[in-house]
Amino acid sequence: MQIFKDAMEIKTSQRLQIVDITAQLENIIKSSAIKNGLINIFTRHSTSGIIINENEPRLVGDFENTLERLIPENEVYGHNVIDNNADSHVKAVFLGGSQTVPIENGQMDLGTWQSVFFVELDGPRTRKVKITIMG
Ligand code: ZN
Repeated sequence: MQIFKDAMEIKTSQRLQIVDITAQLENIIKSSAIKNGLINIFTRHSTSGIIINENEPRLVGDFENTLERLIPENEVYGHNVIDNNADSHVKAVFLGGSQTVPIENGQMDLGTWQSVFFVELDGPRTRKVKITIMG
């Protein structure tokens, strides 16, 4: 088995921003030369997440609005005494910080309507996402 490691830098411009990273991941898989296996996408930040879903612009807006409605920025949180970003951490807990996708024939074996997104929850920032490909 081979293990290939890489990292992506993502510069975000908004506090809450959902960024489709599928094309960059496909390029990293190509450069790994691994044809069959798994890719793990892991964010190293506790106020961001990695999700898989459909890249339809109104739906992406629905994700943003729903996250804000369920876990509002302006709410009473203990952590805000220290950092003023408790809602970002709590949102991140529910999204999760990594995803693993099968690779078949040199591509992610995603469903027709699936994309991989980095979710910024406390931007704008420069973020690092670690990629591990095994196969
Ligand atoms: Zn914090």
